[in-house]
Formats: sequence, C-alpha cells, structure tokens
Amino acid sequence: MMFSMLDLKKITESLRDCPCGRKHEINIRALEIGFGNTPDTGRILRDAGFDGALHVVADQNTLAAAAGIADALRTARFRTTLTLFDDLQLADIEGVERVRRDIARCGAKAVLSVGTGSLNDICRFAAAQLDMPFAIYATAPSMDGFASVMAPITQNGFKRTFPAKAPEVIIADSAVLAKSPAVLKAAGLGDLLGKYTAHADWEVAACLTGEYYCEKIASLTRAAVDDAAELARRSDAESPEFSASLMEALVLSGLAMLLSGCTRPASGAEHHIAHFWEMQYALLGRPQVFHGKKVGIAAGLVADVYNRLAQLDTIHEMRRPIDWTRLSTVYGALWNECRAENTPNPVDAIPAGAVEKNWETLRAALARVPKGDEIRALIRRTGGAATCAEADIPAYLEDQGLRYGRYARFRMTMMRLLDIIEENPI
Ligand SMILES: [Zn+2]
Ligand SMILES: [Zn+2]
Repeated sequence: MMFSMLDLKKITESLRDCPCGRKHEINIRALEIGFGNTPDTGRILRDAGFDGALHVVADQNTLAAAAGIADALRTARFRTTLTLFDDLQLADIEGVERVRRDIARCGAKAVLSVGTGSLNDICRFAAAQLDMPFAIYATAPSMDGFASVMAPITQNGFKRTFPAKAPEVIIADSAVLAKSPAVLKAAGLGDLLGKYTAHADWEVAACLTGEYYCEKIASLTRAAVDDAAELARRSDAESPEFSASLMEALVLSGLAMLLSGCTRPASGAEHHIAHFWEMQYALLGRPQVFHGKKVGIAAGLVADVYNRLAQLDTIHEMRRPIDWTRLSTVYGALWNECRAENTPNPVDAIPAGAVEKNWETLRAALARVPKGDEIRALIRRTGGAATCAEADIPAYLEDQGLRYGRYARFRMTMMRLLDIIEENPI
C-alpha cells in the first residue's frame, strides 16, 4: 500500500454512505509518504495551499535528520524562520509558549513541525491557539498520533490533554525514517501491534453493549497493520520499505480515530495497561518509557490472556464487585481518578447471560489476535524490548498492570470481563 493524496481521497470515497451510519470525513489535504521525497517538501506544501512566511520548529536531531529540507523550502520560495530546540524530550507549556513568541516576533503565517512526538504536539497546540495552518514533516515512525486533534502537554509537572488541531499536511521521506533510531521504530511497531488487541476489545464492546462499531474502518486499519507486521517479519528493520509501511499504518490508525470519531480503532486494554504504567512511573518519579514501547509490551501480555480465553469452548458468568480496597492501594495517589473512571462500572451495562450466549462471537474476535509470542518476536526483530524484564519495568508493575491496569479507563474491554466470568486466564 503506497499512500498519496489520491489514496486519501480513495479512502474517504470508499467510506461514503458507510453502513455504520456515521459520516466519515477528514480535513487533511495532503499525505505524502515516499522514498527520497524531502526535496519535494516545498512543492507539496505549496500545492496544499501553504503560502508566504513559514515557521519551522525542530530540534538539533530532527533538523540534522531532515537534511535538504531547508533547500527544498527555499526552492519553493518560502520565507522561513526557525525555533530550534536542543534535544526536545518533553512537550511542555514552556515549549508551546516559546514557539508562540517566536511566531509572533517574525509574523509567520503557518507552522511546519520537523520531527515526531513532542515536537509535533507543541506545534499542534501552538497552531490551534494561533489558528494557523500546520504541517508535519515526520522524521521517525514512533507512534500513531500524527493526525491527532489532541495534544498531551505537561503543565506544572502534570500531563494534560488539550484540544489542538490535526495537521493539514503530513510528509515523510522513508529514506529518513529508515535511518531514525531503532528505539523509535520499535516503539512505533509496538503502538501498531496494540491495534490487534484493541480491535478485539472493540468487537467485544460492540457485541455485548451495542457500542458503535464500523466494520469498514476496522478492516482498513487491520489491513495496514497486517502489511507492516508482514514486512517486520520478513524484511530488514533498517529498510526504507519497512519504515514506509510502518509510517503508513501508523498514520492510518490515527486517521481511523478521526474518521470514526472514537479511539476504538487504535486503543484498547493494552493502552490502559500502558497508561497505568505511565501513571505509576510519574508517581515514582521514574523517567518515562516511550509510549509505543509500553503499548507493545502490554499488547503481548493481553494477547497471551486473549489467546488463552479463545481456547475455552464454554464460559461461565460469575459477577464479582470491584475490589475497591485493593484498587485504592494499587492506585495510591491516583485513587480518586481511578474511582471516577469506574463509576458506574462499565460491565454493569452487559445484560446477564450475554457473555455466555455470545461466547462464540467473542471467541472468534479473541482468536483473531496473534499469539503473544508472535508480537514479542516482531518487536525483538526491530531491536525493541518485548517484555517488562527487557524494558526494565519492575515485575510487580507487570503483575499489577495485568490485574488492575484495566481500571485506568472507563472502557469496556475483554479484560474487564475477567470481573464477571469464573475462568481466570491470568
Ligand atoms: Zn463506517
Ligand atoms: Zn498509542
């Protein structure tokens, strides 16, 4: 699958009058992922309507990675100004303010983020506040948030998610992506492999509580994830082909959230465990682990549980109340947040007997999740850490993540059903 503007149109075209009943629309004007396309950056931006003074935001690493981009912008007659961070690790409000100040000083009319993750989030938020067009030139396929409309920004030490804006243009040169650090590519793959468990959860929720589900968006995302996983299996992790496929699938997962208007196509029980670890790390004051790295490890753990459940011919319901006392110990200072997320308990929406009655459907969804060992093997092939031990995540947090991570979010997942079935697959 090779994306271009045409394919983006083809995707929205294929989703017109979707049987799911929702209108699937996106405002992204150009999506260009190609080998050696850095010299085309200026032209792509011009074609998408970018004009006049352009403010570029990068750090030393990403600017070096994007060699040739300055020439490309000059050739297309853009007048550029620059905010250059040294080595940006954290998207904080100070970074957003610095970008806003620089833009105000030089009078730019649009923002180009050269980088990934935190750099994009700072620009996404600043561009939304200034109501100006925003483009991303991605330097690493490290997560699926490129097309996101939300920006996680740290303020006074706390991470808050702010409404921001999706970029009008996303450009990525697979020759540049391929040379990005292995840890970033492995994190991107981890975030992507989490879609397998997320999709099982989406089907489970749709089946048991009638939650919104779009078969077309699910299969579109799944096909892109399958392509990238297949390339991870058989190609060199350094190859531009693998990086391009990974980037396409990551961007598509982000688009799937925009198109469906929910996070279901990209996030399920594996993200809840990753979120749980992130909160625990923040409480402990430990340096954070890449998002996709945590998601990939959690996806392997959840896949083990789901595959064990898929082996069962029958299931027996046995409802148990949430163990609030235990949760208050595990969540500690985050206990109030946890209690709010679980009031009411999402499993209360499941009619009595529904799990037993629908077991064949649920089982089929679980059986589509690859084996945990396959997920771990793919992550290791790209040089990533595939288990908590390999990532230096303490063993007690692995255990707590499996048992209590599901309470981090108010969402129906297969993991939540462990509270209402007799069988214990952990
Ligand atoms: Zn649909
Ligand atoms: Zn993610």
